[in-house]
Amino acid sequence: MTDPRSGDGGAPEPAHTPELAERAARRRVAVIGGGVAGLVAAESVAAIGAHATVFEAQERAGGAVQAGEADGLVFDAGAESFAVRGGHVRALIDDLGLGDRVRTPEPGGAWVAGIPGGAAPLPHGGLLGIPANPFAEDVRRVIGWNGTWRAWLDRLLPPLTIGHDRSLGRLVRRRMGARVLDRLVAPVSTGVYSAHPDDIDVDVAAPALNAALTRVGSLSGAVAEITGGAGRAPGAAVQGLDGGMAGLVDALVARIELLGSEVRTATPIERLDRDGERWIVRVVESGEPGEQGEEAADGIPESFDAVILAVDEGTARRLLAPHVPELAAVAAASSPRIEIVTLVLDAPVLDAAPRGSGVLTVPGSHVAKALTHSTAKWAWLRERAGSRHVVRVSFGAQDEDPATAALDDEAAAALALAEASALLGVALPPDRLRGSHRARFVQAQPSAVAGAAERRTAAAAAIGAVPGLAATGAWLSGTGLAQVVPHARAEAERIRHALLWG
Ligand SMILES: Cc1cc2nc3c(=O)[nH]c(=O)nc-3n(C[C@H](O)[C@H](O)[C@H](O)COP(=O)(O)OP(=O)(O)OC[C@H]3O[C@@H](n4cnc5c(N)ncnc54)[C@H](O)[C@@H]3O)c2cc1C
Repeated sequence: MTDPRSGDGGAPEPAHTPELAERAARRRVAVIGGGVAGLVAAESVAAIGAHATVFEAQERAGGAVQAGEADGLVFDAGAESFAVRGGHVRALIDDLGLGDRVRTPEPGGAWVAGIPGGAAPLPHGGLLGIPANPFAEDVRRVIGWNGTWRAWLDRLLPPLTIGHDRSLGRLVRRRMGARVLDRLVAPVSTGVYSAHPDDIDVDVAAPALNAALTRVGSLSGAVAEITGGAGRAPGAAVQGLDGGMAGLVDALVARIELLGSEVRTATPIERLDRDGERWIVRVVESGEPGEQGEEAADGIPESFDAVILAVDEGTARRLLAPHVPELAAVAAASSPRIEIVTLVLDAPVLDAAPRGSGVLTVPGSHVAKALTHSTAKWAWLRERAGSRHVVRVSFGAQDEDPATAALDDEAAAALALAEASALLGVALPPDRLRGSHRARFVQAQPSAVAGAAERRTAAAAAIGAVPGLAATGAWLSGTGLAQVVPHARAEAERIRHALLWG
């Protein structure tokens, strides 16, 4: 269990005296949004003995971390892994007693589709898709001889510091040519960040590249130096949980309740009000926004000492507008909409994992953005699926609505099946489909998108200036559990400190 006496990464707090405990027990905190950010923040608040109430709009907590079910099989319908870097998610998992469920994905790598001659394995040893050696057989297979010779020119061009050109797309195009950009880097940046390489800030996506390029003199040489030639990019490793990442959500909810706090699902918050120093949250009652607040038995609206907002950017801005007018001056980010259609298939043709763990696509070459062959990637899921296969097909990209958006569930599953067949290079007739599941998401802007860091810093400063108010979630921390978890802890720590010490 989290030690209530120590802040995460901060200086140790003084001893937990009875007087402090009493003070904490009187404090009430509203956490709006029950995704991982909100749950982690609530658990941190509850750990000092204060009372946290999580208000979650949906029927279940978890947000982008959610379980799906089809043909009696349960799998991750949203996030399916966590980045190992930083160790924050692993520490949380261990703290919740789930350490023995951590699993590493199977070694088969991803493929890239949409290149002449059919799909090919994504080359080993690259960084953000940038190859360390353009003459390597697996690289040449994707970019062809013309692309290889053009990429080799990178070694002859005079060095230039990335400081002059922070756009990943412009940098790669200039040094290694359009084929490396379009066939290797764009599939990775679109698949991983939902953003075109032109919009990715090199210094954020690959902080070590700048210095290495200046030192080594070429982009491919810099990549070779950073990755050690053949390894994967440092920090690129991910792990998952046996049974699915949704197990993390269940454990967080159980911990919050064990600590005497609560998670209220199906409770969308419409408005945030102030009554002197206290906060009042207004719940949407039976679809009629803003009609009345949650009321205690005596008819007085429930009020809170502090509020932690852990919702998406659009909702946060709406709720905060009356309290943080300065936020209006910070530009809003575009948030790509994503749909994931998960298919459960009776298809022995997939037993050999024809495309490894999955497929990334050259943007514009296919309707789907990417595919994960989940039963090839995760042994725990393969064991549960028996002879069946689980394949996730992702739709939607930057500035583009998912192609499935206007389709009903049956049509979306049919489209996903057709795309899966094309991307996996095997026939998958409709009678192979045992079941399907569909989930819709709005993805926060990734940290690596140019200007994101500055926007976040400005938004956080405006929010942090309001007493008793904190905000967290992927729109402020950057997408990915490895960023969301420590940010939520840090924001909760700010509130804990204010509750105890004023
Ligand atoms: C499809 C997909 C796959 C991903 N895969 C991975 C992965 O494999 N590994 C990884 O590390 N990261 C992954 N991510 C990113 C990661 O899942 C997210 O960054 C993280 O889960 C975001 O957590 P959050 O709590 O900030 O937001 P969310 O999970 O979006 O939670 C916000 C919550 O607020 C609730 N809410 C909104 N409005 C209101 C309101 N008015 N009142 C009450 N509640 C409200 C929402 O219902 C939601 O539950 C993925 C994301 C997506 C979308």
